[in-house]
Amino acid sequence: MTQDVDAILIGAGHNSLACACHLASRGWRVALYEQNAEPGGAVKSGEYTLPGFRHDWAAMNLSLFAGSAFHGDNAAELASHGLAFAPAGNPFASLFPDGRWLGISNNVTLTTARIRGFSETDAATWTRLTEAFPDEAEAIIGVLGSPMNLRAISSLGWKIWRRRGGGGTLDLVRFLMMSPRAWLDQTFESNHVKATLAAWGMHLDFAPDVAGGAVFPYLEAMAGQAFGMVLGQGGADTMTKAMVKMIEARGGKVHCSAQVTGIEQSAGRATGVTLADGTVVRAEKAVIANVPPSALLKLTGGTGNTRHDAAMKGFQHAPGTMMIHLAMDGLPDWIAPELVPGAC
Ligand SMILES: Cc1cc2nc3c(=O)[nH]c(=O)nc-3n(C[C@H](O)[C@H](O)[C@H](O)COP(=O)(O)OP(=O)(O)OC[C@H]3O[C@@H](n4cnc5c(N)ncnc54)[C@H](O)[C@@H]3O)c2cc1C
Repeated sequence: MTQDVDAILIGAGHNSLACACHLASRGWRVALYEQNAEPGGAVKSGEYTLPGFRHDWAAMNLSLFAGSAFHGDNAAELASHGLAFAPAGNPFASLFPDGRWLGISNNVTLTTARIRGFSETDAATWTRLTEAFPDEAEAIIGVLGSPMNLRAISSLGWKIWRRRGGGGTLDLVRFLMMSPRAWLDQTFESNHVKATLAAWGMHLDFAPDVAGGAVFPYLEAMAGQAFGMVLGQGGADTMTKAMVKMIEARGGKVHCSAQVTGIEQSAGRATGVTLADGTVVRAEKAVIANVPPSALLKLTGGTGNTRHDAAMKGFQHAPGTMMIHLAMDGLPDWIAPELVPGAC
């Protein structure tokens, strides 16, 4: 016997969790089914190296979540369920074999001075980029956040065109298609500055010569300087735990070790799910699958629209990212020279 609910969510990554919080706060009865033993998807924390050392499994930068409309609407309730951030004002830095280093701070004067230490020209460029960032960010984040349909993209393109003109719009398109190396080589002269920023292209799986990768070094550098970086207090899973508690407080359930193997359908509508143990759960209003397109194709058996199904099947993920976590028994034997009194 299964208890029917209004909405079933497949997977308990943070997108499912946020969606379930949203629906539960509007009175929907929700149930999430997660194949792993714990919720969170890419946002979980644990002792993955040695006992006593907690690491984030994958995502650790919670800035997008902290700045989201969802968090804005639910901040107080999530905080009451334990959500706590640890903002970092010095979000990232690179150390070089020649003993020098460069770090981005949320203090613009300090960051610019550090860059000036490598190149006067690059410091002037940095100031120009910093001043232009609010306008540029609006257009770039608009493109990255736009729904992938012709209407939304055309309407955004028209808005950008009216604001920036033909030349400005083409400059934006060109920038969005550039590789990290092409943009960094055209923009800066210091190899130290280029290398510090290029790391963020690699973080997003864009090797130096992969087209489309320039935007990430740019955004991370500018956003890191403008807002710093928001980390989870005690680990990124602070956000996962708080959302699970919010769902449970509103009567919802997060079932773990519960793989969904199929989506039940009737008269062209999704009506429920089948779990790996054969249990069928019905949903009165919606089945929401937060899984990759190819997995959705398997769960539904396809839509019957050949073009759509072929596109879902052909979906490919970017190359996998590898993170190395170190458990350290002390701080590294290094301190930024500017933090040592009397050093320059
Ligand atoms: C190494 C790494 C580092 C990252 N760092 C950051 C970062 O610092 N900041 C940032 O903003 N983003 C980061 N990201 C990206 C971010 O983590 C993802 O965009 C985000 O986690 C996606 O959330 P999601 O809920 O859509 O999916 P996921 O987190 O992938 O969750 C999907 C869940 O669905 C479950 N599932 C799938 N199929 C089924 C099924 N059939 N039945 C039941 N359960 C199922 C999965 O087990 C999984 O738990 C990083 C990603 C990676 C891989």
